[in-house]
Amino acid sequence: MIFEKNFPYSFNENACKKCGGKCCTGESGNIFASKEELELIRKHLSLEKDEFKDKFLKKVGFRLSFKEVEFKNGFACIFFDTKRLCCSIYALRPSQCKSFPFWEYYKTHIEEVKKECIGICFLS
Ligand code: SF4
Ligand code: SF4
Repeated sequence: MIFEKNFPYSFNENACKKCGGKCCTGESGNIFASKEELELIRKHLSLEKDEFKDKFLKKVGFRLSFKEVEFKNGFACIFFDTKRLCCSIYALRPSQCKSFPFWEYYKTHIEEVKKECIGICFLS
């Protein structure tokens, strides 16, 4: 169980095994990573910079986000393994993914995060 200071819920990471990657799929969205995080993923995939960028990244304003692919009735992050239903770069996933479901936004949108993530637990 993971606890974060000032959040009204905890998170059971074991829930990810039976969830099927709800936070990696569904509506279209942006997944941002730092330059350092992108570089680690690129090296892990043994790709040249241009090839990595063309294959996996899209420009969103001045930033780079992971591309998405069509999945079921919506989308999935391009790094989501649609057969095994999990992240294909789990150990190298960016901090945006690692910090979910403890995002500032959810402190005031509890109902949303409850619907999104089955690993959320409330202390009674
Ligand atoms: S939605 Fe929650 S339980 Fe499901 S994969 Fe994401 S973090 Fe894990
Ligand atoms: S990088 Fe991995 S954990 Fe993050 S959204 Fe993509 S598939 Fe999910």
